[in-house]
Amino acid sequence: MAKKIIITIDGWSSCGKSTLARQLAKSLNYVYIDSGAMYRAITLYFLRNHTDWTDEKEVTEALSNIHLHFEYNNKSSQSEIYLNDENVEYVIRDLVIAEKVSEVAAIAAVRAFAVAQQQKMGAKKGIVMDGRDIGTTVFPGAELKIFMTADISVRVTRRYKEMYAKNPNISIEEVKNNLEMRDYIDSNREVSPLRKADDAIVIDNTNLTTDEQLKQALKLVHEAVPNL
Ligand code: C5P
Repeated sequence: MAKKIIITIDGWSSCGKSTLARQLAKSLNYVYIDSGAMYRAITLYFLRNHTDWTDEKEVTEALSNIHLHFEYNNKSSQSEIYLNDENVEYVIRDLVIAEKVSEVAAIAAVRAFAVAQQQKMGAKKGIVMDGRDIGTTVFPGAELKIFMTADISVRVTRRYKEMYAKNPNISIEEVKNNLEMRDYIDSNREVSPLRKADDAIVIDNTNLTTDEQLKQALKLVHEAVPNL
């Protein structure tokens, strides 16, 4: 049986991490896990239940009522996240969630909750996981670590197009402010801030097509594990 590895993809908001992670998982027949979806689903639960996330006790109590899992959907050809058995894959992409998620993801108890589950999901390897701290905290021993980046204007335009399709009332400024705010909070928080792992390889996809980025990444996979 072929050797299976762990591939981590970290980087700034909206720089194409999930697109690349999905492509890689498909090509290698690996599982793809979107760790950001977990923080978004927790944020959705907190908002719906009016959890005061500045209160440690309320956070602990709320987390004990949250069950997250992913299920592969044949129709969309992707794995989708469930919050207490409700498919929330699409609602968590709303700007209302994006505006609060970085605050929630900065809470130590929330991170401990999510990281423990992410580590379990990778126990059998054969996984591609994207996020902000996957190569630094979740899987520091991963065989291949990628750190993605792209120009802010390109990132804003990509995310704007995606969000405009669902909500034509959204403005490009709102999208830009949200990306900049999340990048700031994510890279300045105390627990597991977003940073490139020392052994991560950078892919800047500002001028790359999705096919080109996949080609680059597959080359890295074969360099990392020649007999894969
Ligand atoms: O990847 P996505 O943009 O959906 O992630 C949403 C938010 O979740 C990020 O802005 C960040 O605050 C948080 N996150 C995190 N650690 C991860 C993945 C996401 O803190 N591993």
